[in-house]
Amino acid sequence: MHKKTVVITGGAGFIGAHLCYRLISEGYSVICVDNFMTGSLDNIRPLIKDKDFKLIVSNVSGYIKIRGKVDYVLHCASLASPADYLDFPIQTLKAGSLGTHNALGLAKDKKSTFMLFSTSEVYGDPLVHPQKEDYWGNVNCVGVRGCYDESKRFAEAITMAYHRAHRINTKIARIFNTYGPMMRPNDGRVVSNFINQALFSKPITIYGKGMQTRSFCYIEDLVEGLYRLMRSSCHQPVNLGNPNEFTIMELAKLILKLTGSKSKIIFKSLPEDDPRKRQPSIALAKKALGWEPKVRLKDGLNKTIDWFQKMSKNT
Ligand code: UDP
Repeated sequence: MHKKTVVITGGAGFIGAHLCYRLISEGYSVICVDNFMTGSLDNIRPLIKDKDFKLIVSNVSGYIKIRGKVDYVLHCASLASPADYLDFPIQTLKAGSLGTHNALGLAKDKKSTFMLFSTSEVYGDPLVHPQKEDYWGNVNCVGVRGCYDESKRFAEAITMAYHRAHRINTKIARIFNTYGPMMRPNDGRVVSNFINQALFSKPITIYGKGMQTRSFCYIEDLVEGLYRLMRSSCHQPVNLGNPNEFTIMELAKLILKLTGSKSKIIFKSLPEDDPRKRQPSIALAKKALGWEPKVRLKDGLNKTIDWFQKMSKNT
């Protein structure tokens, strides 16, 4: 029987790699395209010898060349941590704009289903809480986060344009803060920072007073949502995230407790345009996909802490 083929850009990154494993286990043939800017060979190394897995080292902002039949194009490639996109704003804009255009062009050429990995950042510093998909957002397009937010907003717009003009079967996942094994220890995001600071007895760096909120989704839950969305008939954007909202201070205290660390909490200045709160409404995902997250923050953090601990012993 012919296996369905999925091209996944950014397939060696944190979310992309988890999805590669899931797709292989579901019987798909996977072509992973990554330029290893933030992705890692270690994330996908166990798949390299699999006959259903192929790696293409390439930058999606250039032309994406794939031979043969392709059933799905999943456009996941992007710098996604604020620390990274502040360092590489132009590459971030290119992955979201040129990269999405190229990935859509591939989907059009191959008559594939297309899925965009978008973000809660399209809501910016939201004035509506929790965020529903029909909220248009509050983004500072010329601020330092604008490179990411606007590239993803453009990516959503061009995805809908290809859907309407070329009748491509498209999906848009708006992904909220996600954490779990295979995050880069130094990617600058809050969960990886706090866990590594706690494990290595370094100060826990809270930006601002720590009263800003985020809603953290464990990677396995997210991958389940993405897998359901790619096979659904939902063309409108769908929020995928865990609606349980925590302050950054609560997160710091929980990580200190779970690691048993004696690290001190220190306060640093709040980055420019840092959203004050963020919480997904997942009513649409529940209704359209029958999906909701199952893993509690404490359990997901314990698994993530174990993984970072193992990683540090192996290096
Ligand atoms: N943050 C923090 N300390 C850190 C890293 C991040 O207090 O060491 C804060 C950051 O200012 C933001 C929240 O944690 O309010 C989430 O940051 P992250 O970079 O993980 O992602 P974001 O949700 O901002 O895209």
